[in-house]
Amino acid sequence: MIPRIPVGMRLIALLGDPVDHSLSPVFQNAAFREAEIAGVYVALRCGAADFRGLLRGIAAAGGAGNVTVPHKRRAAVAVDVATDAVHRTGACNTFWYEDRRVFGDNTDVAGFRAAAAALLGGAPSGARVLLIGAGGAASAAAAGLAHDGADAVVVLNRTAARAADLARRFDGTGSRFTTRASAADLSGERFDLVVNATPAGGSGEDALPLPLDAPLAFGAALDLAYAPGGTAWVRALRTRGIPADDGLEMLIHQGAAAFERWWGRPAPLDAMHAALAPFRLPR
Ligand code: NDP
Repeated sequence: MIPRIPVGMRLIALLGDPVDHSLSPVFQNAAFREAEIAGVYVALRCGAADFRGLLRGIAAAGGAGNVTVPHKRRAAVAVDVATDAVHRTGACNTFWYEDRRVFGDNTDVAGFRAAAAALLGGAPSGARVLLIGAGGAASAAAAGLAHDGADAVVVLNRTAARAADLARRFDGTGSRFTTRASAADLSGERFDLVVNATPAGGSGEDALPLPLDAPLAFGAALDLAYAPGGTAWVRALRTRGIPADDGLEMLIHQGAAAFERWWGRPAPLDAMHAALAPFRLPR
């Protein structure tokens, strides 16, 4: 049977490849229902050749959306007006249409800041942070940490040149950014927060982002990756008594910020949290 779609229903699309694993349709459609909004959130797999036309076509037809791997950099140059967060990170994950122009924002920055604050009980201003990874999520975290005035951010990445590039781009924008070549170089160091911005350790079958016996001390850990029931790294850290969260909180808050761009009203955070409750690792 073909479902009845109300007249005036607005299409909100997630553009990426792959998209079938995404939890965004789950919590965004729950939020739309809770807010009694005439919108439907759909994940659309799309390749590089179709991406720009699809994004601009959906926006021009009154729709809006999110962008995920591998198109966030492409989106940053496909929109007409980019926010400061897009300029700082070179990535766009949210688009919408206004005054006949396509707008783009990177709400991963707001999502990261909210998740870090929830874990630490406040913004990481003055904190010493180890940031593992140097891709898109790491850029959003770097922008968020600089915005909140983290004192020092040490970047560690599998490909050292990318860590150096990220540190160079963000050094002095609000925090000091430096790099280390490997976990062994962190011997004796102490961090308030470690952020994993790589997919490593998400499934439990691959290596953890930071060996559990790495020679450093840290007060809390935020894994930007997520997996049903929590990532292997977060589960291992919690059994050792270290406060740790996976990427679901960041996912919800980047989605809440996107909801506000699309609909011009606050997101129903409780409904978003409730929709993702089955995927959470209980505290
Ligand atoms: P990118 O492809 O842009 O970057 C991936 C990064 O991870 C690179 O630094 C890469 O290193 C590193 N990496 C990849 N595989 C491994 C591995 N096996 N071991 C060590 N390092 C590795 O991806 P994103 O930055 O977009 O995503 C990174 C993670 O963050 C993903 O798990 C993603 O799901 C998550 N994420 C979560 C969000 C949320 O809302 N919670 C939002 C966005 C992303 P190298 O430079 O050497 O290739």
